[in-house]
Amino acid sequence: MENSKQVYDKNKRQEYDNKRYENVFKLIIILKIMYIVLALISTFSTIKSTSFQVKDNIYMISAIACIIAIMMNYYLSWSSNYSKDRVYEKSKTRDYIESFVLMIIFVLVISATGLQTSDYKILSILAVIIGAIQFGQKYSVGVSICYSSIIMAIDLLFNKPSAEASVIYLEKDIVLTAVLFIISIVLGMYVDTERQYFKELKKVANMDELTGIHNHRYFQDALTRLIEECNDNTEVSLLFMDIDYFKHYNDTHGHQAGDLLLREVGDILKACIRNGDIVSRYGGEEFAVILPNTGQQHAIRVGERIRKKIEESYFKGQESQPNKNLTMSIGVSTYPKVANSKYDLISTADHALYKAKAFNRNRVEHYHSILDELYENNQVNKEVLDNLKKLMRMINQKDKYTYGHVERVVKYCKYFGGYLRLSPKEQIDLQIGAYLHDIGKFDISKEVLNKRNNLNSEEFEAFKSHSMNGEIIIKEIECLKPFIPMVKYHHERYDGKGYPEGLKAEEIPYLARVLAIVDSFDSMISTETYISEKVKDSAIASLLADSGKAFDPQLVELFVEMLNKNGKIV
Ligand code: GH3
Ligand code: MG
Ligand code: MG
Repeated sequence: MENSKQVYDKNKRQEYDNKRYENVFKLIIILKIMYIVLALISTFSTIKSTSFQVKDNIYMISAIACIIAIMMNYYLSWSSNYSKDRVYEKSKTRDYIESFVLMIIFVLVISATGLQTSDYKILSILAVIIGAIQFGQKYSVGVSICYSSIIMAIDLLFNKPSAEASVIYLEKDIVLTAVLFIISIVLGMYVDTERQYFKELKKVANMDELTGIHNHRYFQDALTRLIEECNDNTEVSLLFMDIDYFKHYNDTHGHQAGDLLLREVGDILKACIRNGDIVSRYGGEEFAVILPNTGQQHAIRVGERIRKKIEESYFKGQESQPNKNLTMSIGVSTYPKVANSKYDLISTADHALYKAKAFNRNRVEHYHSILDELYENNQVNKEVLDNLKKLMRMINQKDKYTYGHVERVVKYCKYFGGYLRLSPKEQIDLQIGAYLHDIGKFDISKEVLNKRNNLNSEEFEAFKSHSMNGEIIIKEIECLKPFIPMVKYHHERYDGKGYPEGLKAEEIPYLARVLAIVDSFDSMISTETYISEKVKDSAIASLLADSGKAFDPQLVELFVEMLNKNGKIV
């Protein structure tokens, strides 16, 4: 997420950028206004000269006056309305038209002030300088060719005072055209070099040194821009990726090998994406890919392609990783269909990544929440939804373990509810209950939560309080009241030795008994780093050993049967 320092840096950078553009913009406006003023002065001085007959030249004077008035007005309004794209963007048709109008003014002024003998050919220098500063060398050389051609054409075609004088003027004009070319080449080259340097500097500032892909700063700027550009028919997707067990890799092979691996992963990511997609290092061993104009389904496919590519690529030393391979977990979210702001997009992609981690890693998960589903089906209102999400987010920040655990328990419950052939309503209730069952942990200190095992008696009492605290939290919310039994009684034991009330056998509500089995099973497997088949088998053995003691024996039998039939639920 963008913190206040990043926002400050970004604002500072934008301030420098804007200042720079604005100064160049001002310079260009001043030069253009000078051009017009000079043209104006030339017209006045011509009218004042004794030999000049206004009535003979009325059309030309009117034409010059008109064009000058229009251009002056144009520039003055322009000067109060600064726009960045008038300075640095490539020249557009409107710029060619403007240059053409300035050239017409030049031709009219020269014609009115003595053609070959005119003192106002000097205007051409201003035109070339403007071209160079505004659009660089190519453009200014073009401008100097046009003006030189006009000057030479006038020399050759019109107004020859005498052969001798004509040669003198021609010589002067040759010098002038040479000056025009020199200015256009030298100043144009300077402007081009400076712009290129500025561009390179910006590129370096946006690049991650280690991997050579974009850095976090660029990611934030690009995402802001793409979201702003999004309209009703377009979408932006975000892939959030994290290397699995990277700490283990560093610990086994050293940080330098870790760095090398990050670079290799960066290269693979670059090779996997389309032109226009933006791959960046979000931080540490986390990467992000922005996919403009891409919906969720397509983004999931891209994520899957990347996941597979990483899984199939060989990385030195990957054999020693817990899953004997180097893999990556990926979270996907999409704006505006799933997330409604940039903040939300990052947070939901992050949420999906947690989920991928929670489901044994090396997988792609998209953002999906049962709570959102309930909201879409009008089963909870927006206020309740937001409050619950806030609570879940708080737990998530405090304790990553609980978050992953909750997500897995919900998934097991979904399958187990189906396997038990519960009614559709009971199946949904079981999943919501699973979602809420640890909500009372929100009140337990981070230390106690993260300790999990080896709690002293005082800490254990604090831990036990979560089932009662859960009840206190949700009983305030009318539509969640039906789930209180599951939240309150998921730590009761079949033999009556559980908490908080020591209920026995059938006294424990049915769905709470179901939840207790799933909850314990997942707690057992998730204490391990990598959930292998062996880990699952040993958890199943513990469930069977506790059947009839901690758990309803019939339900344990069915749960184990389901796992044996389909061990790949999570
Ligand atoms: P998980 O599968 O849950 O993601 O486990 P993990 O070990 O990858 O996760 P965790 O976030 O705990 O560890 C990230 C590690 O990444 C910790 C840190 O040492 C390492 N790391 C972060 N930045 C760099 C870096 O620039 N170079 C190297 N070599 N290691 C880095
Ligand atoms: Mg990490
Ligand atoms: Mg990791």
